[in-house]
This record gives sequence, C-alpha cells and structure tokens, in this order.
Amino acid sequence: MQEKMQRVISFVESYIHQLPRENHKRRQCFLLFLTGIICCTGGVGWSGAYIYSDKPYLAAMCSSVVTLGVYSLYTAFKGLRKRDVSVFSHLILFICIIISLTDYPITNIPRSSHTYLLVYSIGGMLFLRNESNYFKNYIPLFSLLLYFILSVSDISFTSEDFHPPVPIMNNGVYVNYAICLLLMFGILVIYRSDYTNEKYIECALTKAMIKNELFICYQPQIDNNGHVRSAEALLRWKHPTKGFISPDSFIPVAEASGLIIPLGYWVLEQVCRDMRIMNSHNINVKVSVNLSPLQLMEPGFTYNAQAILDKESISFNRITLEVTESTFYYDKKKIAMMMNDLSEKGVSWSLDDLGSGYASLNVLNEMPFDEVKIDRSLLKNGVNDVKNLVIIENIIEMAKKTGMSVVVEGVETEKMAQILFNMGNVILQGFHYSRPLPLDEFVAFMKRDHSFSGCN
Ligand code: C2E
Ligand code: CA
Ligand code: CA
Repeated sequence: MQEKMQRVISFVESYIHQLPRENHKRRQCFLLFLTGIICCTGGVGWSGAYIYSDKPYLAAMCSSVVTLGVYSLYTAFKGLRKRDVSVFSHLILFICIIISLTDYPITNIPRSSHTYLLVYSIGGMLFLRNESNYFKNYIPLFSLLLYFILSVSDISFTSEDFHPPVPIMNNGVYVNYAICLLLMFGILVIYRSDYTNEKYIECALTKAMIKNELFICYQPQIDNNGHVRSAEALLRWKHPTKGFISPDSFIPVAEASGLIIPLGYWVLEQVCRDMRIMNSHNINVKVSVNLSPLQLMEPGFTYNAQAILDKESISFNRITLEVTESTFYYDKKKIAMMMNDLSEKGVSWSLDDLGSGYASLNVLNEMPFDEVKIDRSLLKNGVNDVKNLVIIENIIEMAKKTGMSVVVEGVETEKMAQILFNMGNVILQGFHYSRPLPLDEFVAFMKRDHSFSGCN
C-alpha cells in the first residue's frame, strides 16, 4: 500500500516537474489535470449508476464526460494549444447543456446540473481573457443566459429514457453542488494568483522600460546560399533580482494591460537605434520586428512608426513586421487598411507562427503578406516526422507560386537544415546557426567569416 502511495506521489511530482515554467500556463495545465481527474471519475461513476438503474441512454451520455476527462488529461500533459481552446469551449458547453436537460426539477428536488454552466461561464471569462471576443465574452454570456433560463423553467428531454431515477437525482444534487463549489474555488484561487503575478509583472515592466533593464537580441536568418539575409529582433528583460524573464511571460501581460503600446514603440525605437549602429559597421540586413495586434489597432501607429524611423534615418524597406493570425480576430478591415498603407511605404509583412494553431490560410489571400514563418513546433519531432516535412514542403511550394518567401524557425541541426534547403527557396532561423544575440555579439557574428552550407 505504502509502495503504491509512493508511486502515485512520484507520478504527481514528475507531472508537476514537467509543467510549463510560465506561471499562467502552469496553472492552466494543473486546472486541466484536476478537471480530467474529476470528469473521468465522475463520468465513470455516473455511468455505472445509470447502468445499474437500467438507463443505458444516460450511461452513454455520461461517457461523453469521460471523453472530456481524457481530453483534459491529454492536454494537461501536452500543453494547451490554440486549437484546444476552441474544442474545449464547445465540448464543455455541449456536455453542460445535454446534462442539464436530463436533470428536470421535481417536488423537493431542484435542478442542479445547470450550475456547471454558471461555473463554466465564470471560468471562461477569467481564463480565456486573452482569447478573442467569441471565447472570452460571447460563449460565457450565452452560458449565463442558459443558466438563467434553466433556473427558472423546467425544460427537459421529453423521453422517459433520459430521466434519471429519483434516488440518483436526490444524491446528484449534493454531488453536483460539491463539484461546482470545488471547481469554483480552484478557479478563484488560480485567478487570484494569476492576477497578483500579472500586476507584479505589469508594475515591474513599467519600471524596466525606464531603468534600462530591457534590450533587444538579434537572431540571424540564413538563406539558401548560406548568407545571413536578415535578423529577427527579440525583446529581452533582465530583472535585477529574478534574472532573465521570458517574453512568453511578460508579453501577454503587456498585451492584457495595454502596456504593449508604449513597449512596442520602445522596441521599434531601440531597433532603429541598433540598426544605425549596424549601418556604421556596414551591416545592412533587414530586421524583423514582432507586432502585437493592439499595436496595429492603434490609430496613430503608421504616423508614429514613420516618425521613429525618420529620427534614425532608417528606411521602411529595411523593416519586416511579423504578426500572428490572432491579429485578424480584431477589426479586419481596419487592419488591412493599415497594412496596405505601410506596405506602400516599403514595409514587408510576415505571417508568424504558421502551423502552430488553427491558422487559416485565408489571411494570406486577404492581406498583403510578403513572407510566411513556419512555426518551430512543426520541427519538434526532428527529421523523422515525415508528415510535418510534407506539410512544410507544400507550404514552400504554395509560397513559391504566390511570390512569398518562407522562413522556417527552430532549425537545430545541420541535417534538418539540409533537408529544408533541398525543399526549395527557404530562409532558416534557429539555434543551429545562432541563438538570439545582443547587439555587440550580433555585430561580431556578422563580421566573422561564416561558412554555413547552403543548398547542396
Ligand atoms: P516568436 O516570434 O515565435 O520568436 C521566436 C522564438 O523562438 C524566440 O523565443 C527564439 O528565441 C526561439 N527560437 C529561435 N530558434 C530556436 C530554436 O532553434 N529552438 C528553439 N527551441 N527555440 C528557438 P523568445 O525570444 O523567447 O520569444 C518568444 C516570443 O515572445 C516570440 O515568439 C514573440 O512572440 C514574443 N516576442 C519577443 N520579442 C517581442 C517583441 O519585441 N514584441 C512582441 N510583440 N512580441 C515579442
Ligand atoms: Ca516572431
Ligand atoms: Ca514564430
């Protein structure tokens, strides 16, 4: 018994150890883990009770809860990707509605399953606050509305097959309320820690901009001839006591608080200053700058960007702006106008992180993109992942036909570089060539005589 307990403890410990380091994602995964355990045990328990009471339809319905549980556990271990947010939101809503409709109120036993809709609505509003309006507002609002309707009415399935026996309903009230309270408590505790952490980062980031704790690193991008064609500017924050803080932790906070607007201008200013220094060393490569959707939605962006570039005499032709597909959840028309405006001034546009989530290729057609960047997740399984390599090859083919260039991120080995170069015209970026380098190291890197092998 003690040995079994020890095995469970070491399993949980090893799970916690491999959770993402970023706090919000860490908590998200842990909540998914808990949801998975609750849904699997609850789903199996209720299915058993219904089979025992000769209600096969209800037992089958409860198996959908087990499916949700297994999916939660799967994502808790693998990490929540963008596509999972959509699957989860719809799956949970669907299951909550179906279960609430089987649970009709009778004398002395109120409906209780619909309380999950309330919990889901609050959880969605708090946890999906960085997602699009659809996920963070519309679906939670719809759930709240349903919760209200089911609270004041006795709508349910008309077929007797879908009505649970009275003793199960009686116990169900206690079980449902207990689980809802537990989930609500978990959601609020996690939200409180997230909120405190975000407020801390927000405050410290504001100071960091003034106290020179931020700087830019440049990661070279290599073309088919083995030459450095361009570089990506990546923001770095060296906190005096906490050390390096990953942009994956502070960029989302800056986006949520609106701080990304001044921070984005700071990045552009710093990049232009650095490019002037690069010019003085005869380094005239193009530089890619990451742009958050909120920056593009800012009415004065084109004007302000022009002023920043003019100040350092940098031409727009030397700048590529990288945006992700999430940019187009906002006002597409307004963003298209802004992008076309900047394109006319000479800016190149790059669609970042292609292949990371549910990126649709439609935006490539609708917006003036010059480049696509294939996400490094497509390379994570190495050279043996034939399926992903075929996907990359097709993207390269598609880009060639539409006149766009292709950058592949996350190249870590020479073998991978050769496979990709042999697929066609590509630009490669990754640790195999160089990590992102501070300006002085980047200048030294560029001055060295490189002998990268290009296309064979
Ligand atoms: P991103 O735009 O996808 O940037 C590429 C990330 O991949 C960088 O992480 C880079 O260090 C990492 N990387 C490059 N090559 C390799 C490789 O071979 N293997 C692996 N495992 N990783 C590689 P980093 O610097 O931590 O940046 C993370 C994200 O933070 C960026 O992802 C970008 O979305 C955001 N970010 C960074 N700087 C800025 C900025 O100035 N503005 C905005 N809005 N976002 C930024
Ligand atoms: Ca990028
Ligand atoms: Ca990327």
